[in-house]
Amino acid sequence: MKDKKIPYKIYLEESEMPKAWYNVRADMKNKPAPLLNPGTLKPMTKEELSGVFCEELVDQELNNEDRYISIPNEIQDFYKMYRPAPLVRAYCLEEKLQTPAKIYYKFEGNNTSGSHKLNSAIAQAYYAKKQGLKGVTTETGAGQWGTALSMACSYFDLDCKVFMVKCSYEQKPFRREVMRTYGASVTPSPSMETEVGKRILAEHPKTTGSLGCAISEAVETAVGNEGYRYVLGSVLNQVLLHQSVIGMETKTALDKYGVTPDIIIGCAGGGSNLGGLISPFMGEKLRGEKDYRFIAVEPASCPSLTRGVYAYDFCDTGMVCPLAKMYTLGSGFIPSANHAGGLRYHGMSSILSQLYADGCMEARSVEQTAVFEAAEKFARVEGILPAPESSHAIKAAIDEALKCRETGEEKTIVFGLTGTGYFDMVAYEKFHNGEMTDYIPSDEDLKKGFDGIPKFAGNME
Ligand SMILES: *Cc1c(COP(=O)(O)O)cnc(C)c1O
Repeated sequence: MKDKKIPYKIYLEESEMPKAWYNVRADMKNKPAPLLNPGTLKPMTKEELSGVFCEELVDQELNNEDRYISIPNEIQDFYKMYRPAPLVRAYCLEEKLQTPAKIYYKFEGNNTSGSHKLNSAIAQAYYAKKQGLKGVTTETGAGQWGTALSMACSYFDLDCKVFMVKCSYEQKPFRREVMRTYGASVTPSPSMETEVGKRILAEHPKTTGSLGCAISEAVETAVGNEGYRYVLGSVLNQVLLHQSVIGMETKTALDKYGVTPDIIIGCAGGGSNLGGLISPFMGEKLRGEKDYRFIAVEPASCPSLTRGVYAYDFCDTGMVCPLAKMYTLGSGFIPSANHAGGLRYHGMSSILSQLYADGCMEARSVEQTAVFEAAEKFARVEGILPAPESSHAIKAAIDEALKCRETGEEKTIVFGLTGTGYFDMVAYEKFHNGEMTDYIPSDEDLKKGFDGIPKFAGNME
């Protein structure tokens, strides 16, 4: 038996919650590459970005200098409704695995949206309201981001228009109803409400939609309607900034007990939860104060870090958004039906991409069936029913803990448990029925995606 000096759950006092977000870009020697205007190939200016995004968020997007950006009181108050999120010592999982490793997870599923996405949704809605806007538009795939944003918009009395990938709209009617409960209007994408949608439907009348296509529709709707702006739930620098609350709370909780992690693990879709979790620790590493191992875990079916190329690419299928430099599979890459909807994005945050290129972070990909095995093992001992996305991190954490069993090392492992899986029971059902498949794209499949990446001097040439 391990002695249990550290509680099962480390909670923080309200007074210990962060009052400022930490901006890891301030400590990066090689800054993430700027967004480019796809027409001129020049960095997007503040003016250009302000047509699409809220002004303060544009400032945050472009801010590579300030280490701390204070969290407005209204947002701090909202955070207090569902934060601090518990940091859990996974004693039961350790026991089950018979590992000398010490495992901790930061649980972000304690709110109705069921994920960490509310941390950024509330910030983005706040700045939209402050600017006097009528509403915001966005896309959602699996539905977590759309749900988080509808909650945030109803709190600030903003109109919220969500384009939901058509197959999810049909397969996840309960997610849709949660969004409508919070007053959002939800449109299956592609739709006849936008020019992009009409064009795509004319070309592919039977399409079930994609995230990239829903993004194009949401951007068109924001730009074409007075008093509306577009908001995005991951990938952007501003989103990683807001998500730094995850890492700051984690660090405060660990510091209270004098615990220093060896390995920090997170699942990576667009990179926001992982970026947020590791930010303050990465800052210490970049400043040469401490060293940690960071591991990004992605699905083998959508392996942007492990098999993608580092280049400027479009963020959406309709090619209306700016170009971002990132590890990408190409904006035309359509990942196979993987059940971790939140990890099916073709690219990766520019911040994480730069850190990965600089060798500050590792990445690995895992297959779907192994992920659900890990999810089930975790659920049975720790009680929480994890989201398929989060279970990618669980899988890697278990693998690292099992390595410790072999070597006898007492490593401290921290991972991000980003959310709950109640709306993913069809995926669990497939797993239980033995109907789940592990699709891994061939090099040829990937080449098709790479062929669609824009070519210009210094990019893909
Ligand atoms: C959206 C989502 C993710 C992935 O998004 P990131 O921006 O990479 O963090 C992971 N887990 C859950 C539960 C999600 O909803």
